[in-house]
Amino acid sequence: MQNANYHTHTHFSDGSSAPEDYIEKAIELGLDSIGISDHAPIPYHAQKWNMPMSDLNRYFEYLDVLKERYVGKIRVLTSLEVDFIPNLVNPLSSFIPSNALDYSIGSIHYLGEMKNGKLFGFELLGSHLPKGLHEVFKGDVVKMVEAYYQNVRDMVQNFTPDIVGHLDRIKIINRHQKYFEEQENWYQDEIKETLQVIAQSKSVMEINTKGMYAIQDEDPYPSFWILKKAFELNIPIVLSSDAHKPDFVNTGFKEIENTLKVIGYESVTQF
Ligand SMILES: [Zn+2]
Ligand SMILES: [Zn+2]
Repeated sequence: MQNANYHTHTHFSDGSSAPEDYIEKAIELGLDSIGISDHAPIPYHAQKWNMPMSDLNRYFEYLDVLKERYVGKIRVLTSLEVDFIPNLVNPLSSFIPSNALDYSIGSIHYLGEMKNGKLFGFELLGSHLPKGLHEVFKGDVVKMVEAYYQNVRDMVQNFTPDIVGHLDRIKIINRHQKYFEEQENWYQDEIKETLQVIAQSKSVMEINTKGMYAIQDEDPYPSFWILKKAFELNIPIVLSSDAHKPDFVNTGFKEIENTLKVIGYESVTQF
């Protein structure tokens, strides 16, 4: 179904290895294309897992060299996973030259600011999550999840990325249904509204397998029931493993392809 992966993180952001290690692994696995999509910088906020702004030009130049080096062996594509944070950064931000990317991935990892002025990254679980939840959303999980999906919709409508990254990543805070059930009406409504916005846009929705191999027994992003709804709305899809190590370059693809066929998807988008 898909002989490529468009979502990988290297040394340039929070991945384990140099870009060429992912490319070599992709060649070994017989892929025809590999996209490098490190976390884009966030202006004024140096973050642990985002690329420093001062590395951005070197990143583009480095990937240009690799594109040349691997001609005839594999197609190397340049991308960035760009955060959407209202009034701060988005997939069309001007610090990203418009001709620099073969495609963009737009994702949400941050929701508002903590009292100390730092961005609230909801993926940092542990004590950080209750603190951010309390400081930014007064402890209201429903408000926080609604804010997440509102941001997804704003991003898709106003700063349309080529790929919408890990649509329901926010569920990482809700393991073992700690706060809510996905069948609850308000959550179903958020998903329906968000899928409708994607269906009317030029964005492609990513099926991200990271949840399946990094967190055991977890669905992909988005969950299977959301994939069924996306198919009914004719939303185009692409597979990605969100690899932070070369070994995960296409992990979970075979498994997910079988499920997608059962749902009805017969093809994926190529970049
Ligand atoms: Zn991400
Ligand atoms: Zn990623």
